[in-house]
Amino acid sequence: MANTTTCPACGVAASGRFCAECGTPLGDTTCASCHAQLSAGAKFCHRCGTPVGERAPRPVGERGLAGAMPWAVAAISLLALVALVAGQRFARSRPAEQQSVAAADASGGMPAAGGANVDQSPVRAPDISNLTPEEQAERLFNRVMTLFEQGDTARVQFLAPMAVEAYQRLPKKSLDDRYHLGRIGAVTGVANLAGAQADTILQQRPTHLLGLILAAQGARMRGDEGVARGYDRRLLAALPAERKAALPEYAQHENDITRAVEGARSRGQ
Ligand SMILES: [Zn+2]
Ligand SMILES: [Zn+2]
Ligand SMILES: [Zn+2]
Repeated sequence: MANTTTCPACGVAASGRFCAECGTPLGDTTCASCHAQLSAGAKFCHRCGTPVGERAPRPVGERGLAGAMPWAVAAISLLALVALVAGQRFARSRPAEQQSVAAADASGGMPAAGGANVDQSPVRAPDISNLTPEEQAERLFNRVMTLFEQGDTARVQFLAPMAVEAYQRLPKKSLDDRYHLGRIGAVTGVANLAGAQADTILQQRPTHLLGLILAAQGARMRGDEGVARGYDRRLLAALPAERKAALPEYAQHENDITRAVEGARSRGQ
């Protein structure tokens, strides 16, 4: 593979202009609004604040919580709700012009969507209307996984429920979507979520590598090593044929598969 690099957002090997896994631009790109040159992985334009249309990474903490992480997009609707509630409470006892101040405070100092307008239109700021529900869910999933790999348990726990909700809202879930949902369960200690998604995947394709991996994880979370070993063996048995089947999600989750296969082999010895 020529020019293979590692996606800064999801960590898979990637080549070309966009990550095949998560869509993060791999090279420099420009702001759709003001055409400023953006660095690889920028989520928001540094000049005008326009969200970069594609999925994009940024090291956690570079700009703080309210900075430019994609999950802030989801958090904003939550914070806006908080702001709205706070505004309504203040409305009982305070003059109107102070409401927007209260709302701004409640939003944690997030760049306000136009000061006084916050009251009328609390859910503004980053424009996610150009993202499909599937893209929004995947963006949240990628963020949860990145935070998990960075050991940021607090933010994982904060963001995971939004990611789960985003997937549950999807009218139709692919097997890859179900794997994402199950992985969120696995990294947040919700064994039932991991197990249920694994079951659904394996009902549709009993040799699905990611379904088997997830099923083993779910069993281990429940402390059922015997059952987990059974899934390990099924994983190793299914591997050659499934490698040939080359489902797109296998390429996207190559790291997970490699890790699980290595684990299954070492435990099987
Ligand atoms: Zn990626
Ligand atoms: Zn811009
Ligand atoms: Zn996936």
